Amino acid sequence: MNPSTVGSAALYDILPTSYGGRGAYARQTIPEGTLVLSCAAPYVHVIFWKFRREVCAWCFEYAFESGKNKWSVRLAEGAHGEGSGAWFCSQECRDAYLCEHQVFEGQSGNWRAEINASFAKLLSAMAKDEKHPNAGSGTLTYLDDISKDVVSQEFLEKAWTLAKDSVIDGHQKRKAEWMEELNEFEIDTARFVLEGLLRKIIEEINPVAPLLDHVDDAALGYRVSAGRWADFMALQDNELSFIRANPYMLPCQIRIYRFLRNVAANLSKPHRSRERDEKENALFQQIADRLREHLSSPEYVRALLGRDPGNVFGIWDMATDDGSEMLGWGAFVFASYYNHST
Ligand SMILES: [Zn+2]
Repeated sequence: MNPSTVGSAALYDILPTSYGGRGAYARQTIPEGTLVLSCAAPYVHVIFWKFRREVCAWCFEYAFESGKNKWSVRLAEGAHGEGSGAWFCSQECRDAYLCEHQVFEGQSGNWRAEINASFAKLLSAMAKDEKHPNAGSGTLTYLDDISKDVVSQEFLEKAWTLAKDSVIDGHQKRKAEWMEELNEFEIDTARFVLEGLLRKIIEEINPVAPLLDHVDDAALGYRVSAGRWADFMALQDNELSFIRANPYMLPCQIRIYRFLRNVAANLSKPHRSRERDEKENALFQQIADRLREHLSSPEYVRALLGRDPGNVFGIWDMATDDGSEMLGWGAFVFASYYNHST
């Protein structure tokens, strides 16, 4: 966030810090207990795949805390129900989620369920190939056991160029299949990146889409929206320092990129079981085309992944004892300056 984008109602400014990066500085003495910032939503977030049935995809309510094993309201019914990847504590939360995915006011947000289903379909194809885990990872073996010292900006550029050139998209194969095994963390990170790309695409298709500048009217304090792509990109890119400290993450990130490219490639295939009206169909195609375009190079995936370390917050359950559990993570863009952002 550029200092000028902090409204006059804010009690703070975003300014450079003496130790690098930027932070929030109070404009005046702020009494204890004052709510200084209310973010309408994270710009991008993910609830862990393993908790998708237990945590409401809209309000993050944890079923366990309400004495239930899982929530029963699904994003999509029928064949896509299980694969649509989102469960809700109530019909109201499902409606709100679909409303959040309206590209144009009044139009259906059902396209999101279909993309989730395509993601889940490729995941299940992966699970079936237990005999040959990582059969397709051959081109990444050179990244096994790389040392911190070899990781430079130039090294990253070369590795990603190689990754881009070695992608075999699903539509070049006879059927949807995925040969590299993603671990749970990679699956969740892939969903995080997909969410970020879709939000960018909504903004491109309709710069005044309802979700973009939505502010929570009921909130107190200085209220802001979830932010736009440019706001998220204004956060510091920590890619190089992160990979230097964790070189094993580079092949993980490349696997995630390849997986998402395959998800996007498979979106072009006709979905026999879906019934969409003409408008819905055109919108879905537009989103699918843009997603493929955004994944044709790793640029945006790297931009999202580079801003994850140091800028995101864990989403925790509300247990007050020591047993609190992390359920996912999210990038609350404007709040990042308060915490571990640099
Ligand atoms: Zn809910």
